Amino acid sequence: FEHFFQLGQMQFQIALHLSFSLCPLPPPSAAANLRPGAEQRVVFITARVHPGETPSSFVCQGIIDFLVSQHPIAKVLRDHLVFKIAPMLNPDGVYLGNYRCSLMGFDLNRHWANPSPWAHPTLHGVKQLIIEMYNNPKINLEFYIDIHAHSTMMNGFMYGNIFEDEERFQRQAVFPKLLCQNAEDFSYSSTSFNRDAVKAGTGRRFLGGLLNDTSYCYTLEVSFYSYVLGGPTSAVPYTEEACILLKSFLFLQHT
Ligand SMILES: [Zn+2]
Repeated sequence: FEHFFQLGQMQFQIALHLSFSLCPLPPPSAAANLRPGAEQRVVFITARVHPGETPSSFVCQGIIDFLVSQHPIAKVLRDHLVFKIAPMLNPDGVYLGNYRCSLMGFDLNRHWANPSPWAHPTLHGVKQLIIEMYNNPKINLEFYIDIHAHSTMMNGFMYGNIFEDEERFQRQAVFPKLLCQNAEDFSYSSTSFNRDAVKAGTGRRFLGGLLNDTSYCYTLEVSFYSYVLGGPTSAVPYTEEACILLKSFLFLQHT
C-alpha cells in the first residue's frame, strides 16, 4: 500500500509539474498582466478527474496546443489572461486503467468540499492553489472549467450552477450560448444548470459556491462518440484528431 501511495504522490508531482510548469509556456511576452505586481485575470482549467473519460484529455490537449500557438487569437488571450491548467486530476486512476475512481477507490469529483492530502492529493493540491489565488487581491479567478466526457449524450455541452441571483444566473448562461453559436458540435439545449445533492462535491459546484459572483464555473462535457449536425440521422463521429485539433471547441471555429 505504501508503495502505491508513493506512486500516486510521484505521479501527482509529475502531473502538477506538467500542469503548472510545462504547459502554459507561451513565448516571452511583454503582456502587462505578467509584469510583477500586475493584476491577473485567471482562467483555471482541469481535466481527467474521471480516468476513463479519455476525450477530456484530447480536448485539454487541444486547448493547450492552441494557447501556446502563434495564432493571433491565442496571443491576445495570453496578453490578457493567465491560464492555469491541470490536465490530469486523477493520474493514478489513469495509470491503473480505472474508469471512474482513483487508486484508493474514490470518485474524486465528489470530494472537492473536503479533500484529504493523503487520500485525494491531486484534488487537495489543486484546491489549495485555487484558494490561494482566490485570497490574493492581485488575482481575479474569472473562469473555472472542468473537462469531462459523457458516455451517453451526444455533442459537447455544459453543466452550470443555479444561483438565487437571477442576474448572475443569466450571466452564467452567456458563455455556453456563445459556444453554441460558434461551435457546430456544441449544444446549448443539452446544457443544464442544477444543484442536485448528488453533484454537491463536484469542482464546478464547490467552486461556484466559493468564488465570488464575477466568477464563472462550468463542467464542459464532450460526447464519447459523436455529435449531431442538423438532425438525428447525421451523427458525426468524434475522432482523436478532431478533439486534439479542437476545430470546433472553444476557440478555433472562425480560424
Ligand atoms: Zn466525468
